[in-house]
Amino acid sequence: MSIEHHPDDLMLAGFAAGTLDHGQHVAIATHLAACPKCRDFVRVLEQTGGAMLSRLPPAPMSSTAFEHIQSRLTEPMSPAPIALSPASVSESEIPGLPEFVRRYRFGKWIWVAPSVHMRPILLPHPSDTRVFLLRSGSGTKMLEHSHSGVEMTCVLSGAFRHEGGRFGPGDFDFGDDTVDHQPVVDDGQECICLVAMQGELRLNGLVGRLIQPFLRL
Ligand SMILES: [Zn+2]
Repeated sequence: MSIEHHPDDLMLAGFAAGTLDHGQHVAIATHLAACPKCRDFVRVLEQTGGAMLSRLPPAPMSSTAFEHIQSRLTEPMSPAPIALSPASVSESEIPGLPEFVRRYRFGKWIWVAPSVHMRPILLPHPSDTRVFLLRSGSGTKMLEHSHSGVEMTCVLSGAFRHEGGRFGPGDFDFGDDTVDHQPVVDDGQECICLVAMQGELRLNGLVGRLIQPFLRL
């Protein structure tokens, strides 16, 4: 697998620091599962962060810290996150989908547009980012679109291309409200991606505006 498109350093730093939104964290982790180069970079960041923490001077604890912890022990517990089920999507069904994602719960495939379907991934923790699988048929020309928020795309199988280049298995694509693009899926194989999307997808052009009300993305 030859990976040419990676998350930028800031996204990887956000992943290492644990500051990303949960849905975005899943997208970056999906890329890391396929990309040794980014995994090495994140490992260095985590080691650097750990070394900095260990050099911080010790801070005195508050005199009421112990009482505070004791009072928390008697508080009612918040509901447990959604239980993870045994792998609910098999490797053969969605090649390239990391095992940790396959253990999440999935919605049903939903028709989005001709030759395009999406399948929601039900995250175990709340997130402002929706995560879903997007399956596009061979040769599909997606409608030109832009975003009202951030969109991260991890290619699992197949390939597409747009103004930013060609994206194959393992590649990571980033879109935001400054990017308008019109992906075209390669001929010969359908393309399946994991997408983490904030905000709304905005379709450009007359046809896009006509079908936008029917879109469920
Ligand atoms: Zn990478």
